[in-house]
Amino acid sequence: MWASGTVQSTSGEESIVSLSNGNVIKVCTSQLLPANPGILEGVNDLIQLSYLNEPSVLHNLKRRYSHDMIYSKAGPVLIAVNPFKDVQIYGKDFVTSYREKATDSPHVFAMADNAYNEMMNDGLNQSIIISGESGAGKTETAKFAMQYLASLGGGYGGKECKILRTHCILEAFGNAKTSRNDNSSRFVSSSSPLSFALCSLLKGKLIDIHFTASGKISGANIQTFLLEKSRVVQLAAGERSYHIFYQLCAGASPALRERLNLKMANEYNYLVQSDCLVINGVDDGQKFQKLKEAFDIVQICKEEQEQVFAMLAAVLWLGNISFQVIDKENHVEALADEALTSAATLIGCAPHELMQAISTYRIQVGKDRIAKKLTLQQAIGTRDALAKFIYASLFDWLVEQINKSLEAGKKHIGRSISILDIYGFESLKKNSFEQFCINYANERLQQHFNRHLLKLEQEEYDLEGIDWSKVVFEDNQECLDLFEKIELELGLTKKPLGILSLLDEESNAPNSTDFTLANKLKQHLNSNSYFKGDRGRAFGVLHFAGEVHYDTNGFLDKNRDPLSSEVVQLLSSCDSQLPQLFAKKMFNQPLQSVTSLDTTMQSVALQFKGQLFKLMHQLESTRPHFICCIKPNSKQLPGTYEEDLVLQQLRCCGIFEVIRISRSGYPTRMTHQAFSERYGFLLSEPIVSQDSLSISVALLKQFNVLPQMYQIGYTKLFLRTGQISALEDRRKQVL
Ligand code: ADP
Ligand code: MG
Repeated sequence: MWASGTVQSTSGEESIVSLSNGNVIKVCTSQLLPANPGILEGVNDLIQLSYLNEPSVLHNLKRRYSHDMIYSKAGPVLIAVNPFKDVQIYGKDFVTSYREKATDSPHVFAMADNAYNEMMNDGLNQSIIISGESGAGKTETAKFAMQYLASLGGGYGGKECKILRTHCILEAFGNAKTSRNDNSSRFVSSSSPLSFALCSLLKGKLIDIHFTASGKISGANIQTFLLEKSRVVQLAAGERSYHIFYQLCAGASPALRERLNLKMANEYNYLVQSDCLVINGVDDGQKFQKLKEAFDIVQICKEEQEQVFAMLAAVLWLGNISFQVIDKENHVEALADEALTSAATLIGCAPHELMQAISTYRIQVGKDRIAKKLTLQQAIGTRDALAKFIYASLFDWLVEQINKSLEAGKKHIGRSISILDIYGFESLKKNSFEQFCINYANERLQQHFNRHLLKLEQEEYDLEGIDWSKVVFEDNQECLDLFEKIELELGLTKKPLGILSLLDEESNAPNSTDFTLANKLKQHLNSNSYFKGDRGRAFGVLHFAGEVHYDTNGFLDKNRDPLSSEVVQLLSSCDSQLPQLFAKKMFNQPLQSVTSLDTTMQSVALQFKGQLFKLMHQLESTRPHFICCIKPNSKQLPGTYEEDLVLQQLRCCGIFEVIRISRSGYPTRMTHQAFSERYGFLLSEPIVSQDSLSISVALLKQFNVLPQMYQIGYTKLFLRTGQISALEDRRKQVL
């Protein structure tokens, strides 16, 4: 990484540098980066740094972090570095001092306060956009923002408490324990220690908090994005499925156990496959009691709770259903055993109906529909698809119930603050469909951010009477086009052009594979400068935060997310209420197409694009506030700051992008008064007029600051990057 030092001498390409640890080394001059003067050490706002290079930013954040100053600003962005310990900065005293503006140190409370004030004063809806990787502290930060907003209202009817309690439900159903290979060691043996994380597998949620005209919380609404469904049926070694399954198995009362024919977690194939059933220090049984309390609070009645638990048990039993080969062509049929009977009973159908639905598919022959048997692979796929569908539908249904309870049936007409808790840009060793979707979303958010930043800058320049035509901003529209562009007209024919539409075309094509998808992308997009055709199944995209390579392995399946019409039919004819509801919803959604396997298809990518457009539309009518959460180490330890890990996240959050944008403007802003007071004594000749503006102008002249390096506003002086440190150096010499 980097080390700080002082240049002793430079000759040609090489410099002799003495490091702060006393060592003297020879380095390539072009690799040196300027450090900031001492007055800028540990500044609140990174934009104040005279030199905005990566080591300076890292150093500044580290210094603050070591003093438990976990919040910093990068211009309009709040950076929050996860302390992994109780930092005692969220108490009532802190709420009060931010409310009364007694402090200006960066804090999520300050940001929430700002949002609230702007909502009340300007009548504009607000949004707080929180991003970062899993475990970076997004959800905690969102909770602190909500806690602050709730405390402002005063005299509310317990709504805020309800909103906070819903987290418990969302986390039980949306989070799991995942493992993370220690990336720092190259050779990971199977027995090497893995660091564990309790991960949210719901990649995004938006919580709108509604306020009355007098500023009291009147209700809330939650939207969720991209729940990783595959975890329900497939686990990697050492990982767990969604918490709720273990909580149910550990915490259900004997009577409930009996009614659901529920076993312990170790008896379910979906759960035992990863050899990891418990998390040290976590009592799943106790969490189950908490969950039931949360259900009560959001008014999910006992009967409905019972149905929820029945659906979960059904999913678990589905995983235990096995198949036997029944003919020479390797066709199979589900075994009529306890698993089949239990699953069927729980979803409310006869065992033979369930058996039929997961062992056959129907094809149209002339006027008739005839049943064909499935192979083992196909049958397992159908069974797992059913399990995933039930789980995902259950999750959506729960969110719907929570929303009903938070809104209490009222139509919202007042103002709102929306809090978006969303995975940041991801670049893993292996990037798949999930990363593709989340990175596409982040590319959109980045555009939103850039445009907002541009607007803010322009407002300030206008206010100060400055010519802002000299500030160049970049837009990432071209990269977005790579994803979204629908078609290109070539004479009479239209040709799909963006990755999303190509992906959909290939998802609907017969005999397509992940290879044909990769080839198709390369064929159509190779001339696009944001696209990189790789070898085999891979391709790369030049995102704003860097180049990411995706492996198309599994793209088509994940995008199709097939569910056979047999299964939907089965659910719609079930006796129980929830399966019927789930099936009905499926029928109501526009079907993409029907393939030869008679599979109802809904492209996941297109659905997500629709959700994303809706989200962006909503955000565009708000005034945004950005928070970027950083995980300082992968072991979830306090006081440990891994520079490379932080650097990678800062890049992904687009912090350097913010900085780069600010760099193209005038990052240093000082009032004429402050400027003249700090440097006025350096003037070599006295000047006639003693007002601060004249002193400032004389100083600029004396130090030969080039005209393109500054602009003079009505109240402030605007300086380009690096200008202030020359003055600081001079000041230090004189003092
Ligand atoms: P994310 O939602 O980004 O995945 P979480 O918000 O769940 O991450 O945070 C992960 C863990 O980090 C929390 O369980 C908590 O222990 C710790 N944490 C996060 N933010 C803070 C904070 N501001 N103060 C103390 N601990 C925190
Ligand atoms: Mg979270």
